Amino acid sequence: MKIAMLARNAELYSHKRLKEAAEERGHELDIINTLRCYMNIASRRPEIYYNGEKLPKYDAVIPRIGASVTFYGMAVLRQFEMQGVYPLNESVAIGRSRDKLRSMQLLARDGVGLPVTTFAHDPKQTEEVLEVAGEAPLVIKLLEGTQGLGVVLADTNRSAKSVVEAFRASGTNILIQEFIKEAGGTDIRAIVIGGKVIAAMKRTGAEGEFRSNLHRGGSAQLVKLTPEERSTAVRAAKAMGLNACGVDMLRANHGAVVMEVNSSPGLEGVEKATGLDVAGKMIEFLEKNAKPGKTGTKGK
Ligand code: ADP
Ligand code: GLU
Repeated sequence: MKIAMLARNAELYSHKRLKEAAEERGHELDIINTLRCYMNIASRRPEIYYNGEKLPKYDAVIPRIGASVTFYGMAVLRQFEMQGVYPLNESVAIGRSRDKLRSMQLLARDGVGLPVTTFAHDPKQTEEVLEVAGEAPLVIKLLEGTQGLGVVLADTNRSAKSVVEAFRASGTNILIQEFIKEAGGTDIRAIVIGGKVIAAMKRTGAEGEFRSNLHRGGSAQLVKLTPEERSTAVRAAKAMGLNACGVDMLRANHGAVVMEVNSSPGLEGVEKATGLDVAGKMIEFLEKNAKPGKTGTKGK
């Protein structure tokens, strides 16, 4: 196969591993800087240009579009889809997962376990929204946050109110969530590819830290999931329509609850913690599924 990978930094562990895994299996993989692609929107001839030349026809495309370039990245990916190139994840599914509210609404609709979550736009409703969320401790999250930045734990109802008001005053969108205390600063990331959990790790936050993000000093270990946790992860991936993703869950007393579904999961933590070839599984998924014109949406 001839594979294009949309990514900005060719040197990232995940990107190097995907290239290596593709080449080991006899494929060609070109890393294409998403932001340097330009396109003509012409009737029935979707083309993509790069470095002064028209890109050749690829069999598959691996989108590794960073959160900060979602808007343009999805347009580039749609152009590939319109050419009939098979994407590891479709543009529409990436769009769903990048919008936290949209994701949670879809997950809830499909009966996937979630922490109790509330959101509202109008600052006048702060009190009411906090009441619906329940008693402190509460977690307050910026909708646009990543890597655990913008996630705040408020221990008392009073501090929850002032955190919400402070965020509101700065004009940012937030959501308020019940604090899953029993998770103990640990979360679970399951990698789901083609409807199966192929790897899972447990991330534990640094001492005294409730956030388990590796970027915040957390550490990762292999973990065995219960059948219920596997099924939750698979249902979450399905609800998003993602072929390959990382599902972040917390172990709550009443079972696994999903926090987030990541369409470009980092591979370093999970490959090192589990010793598994996650990049290889992504390429193998493309080997089985990348047939011309097989993308469901064709950019719609
Ligand atoms: P980001 O998308 O920035 O990583 P998350 O929503 O994943 O933000 O939250 C970061 C970390 O904070 C999680 O990995 C988890 O350890 C912790 N966390 C988030 N929400 C909750 C919650 N409702 N209850 C307990 N811990 C939480
Ligand atoms: N792509 C990174 C990952 O999946 C970002 C996740 C994060 O924000 O922690 O690990």
